[in-house]
Amino acid sequence: MLSNIRIVLVEPSHPGNIGAAARAMKNMGLQQLCLVSPGKYPDPQATARAAGADDVLDSASVVGSLGEAVSDCTLVFGASARLRSLSWPQMDPGQAASKIISTSQSSQVAMVFGRERTGLSNDELQLCHYLVHIPANEAFSSLNLAAAVQVISYELFLSEKVDGQRGQQEENDQPALHDELERYYRHLEAVLIGIDFLDPEHPRKLMRRLRRLYNRAQPDQQEINILRGILTAVEKNRSG
Ligand code: SAH
Repeated sequence: MLSNIRIVLVEPSHPGNIGAAARAMKNMGLQQLCLVSPGKYPDPQATARAAGADDVLDSASVVGSLGEAVSDCTLVFGASARLRSLSWPQMDPGQAASKIISTSQSSQVAMVFGRERTGLSNDELQLCHYLVHIPANEAFSSLNLAAAVQVISYELFLSEKVDGQRGQQEENDQPALHDELERYYRHLEAVLIGIDFLDPEHPRKLMRRLRRLYNRAQPDQQEINILRGILTAVEKNRSG
């Protein structure tokens, strides 16, 4: 998924920032770097700051305009240091990351960063579907370019992990079905009566309260099997 995500730097002037951005990307599992008319690239300062992310740095593509950088993308996000008053759709970094991760499963997505001094031009912003602003001190909200790349890359990393875990969980722990739960509640009630914890003449709200507890936990099938195993052991122990 992360392989379909392209980090685009528009006219970065300091080669150190290009290297630091490559490093930030590699730390978070991103590979695709695209440079729009970089001031100096390649450059020893970029290599020094990449500090081992030379592969990301060396395989960066260089193009002449933002349009070219995003021509094959279905979704383009632009990072903006300012909250723009113009009514352009905005997302916070977490929302943006989750949208980027889900879209990147099937198509190419771009995350665009602006120039160190002037950010992105209005024409460039028009090419973005959404703007992303990293919340920061209102009186000093402009992060260093590579630091902004780091924050967004970290959000992408987290979001991808959550997405992956969700998939795995779906495979491993199927939530228990309604029928299984009902069977468990009947079994539980019988055992609670059997051990004189629940008086069937005065049940109060015990079973309802217990249901609420189990509903909150949303047990999966394996967990329900364990719970039923415990009840069976209690029954055996009492009769034996
Ligand atoms: N003076 C410029 C700031 C440029 S900082 C301006 O006011 O626009 C270089 C780039 O880093 C920005 O174009 C943006 O892509 C990114 N960036 C810096 N701070 C950011 C923030 N708080 N939220 C989102 N992106 C940010």
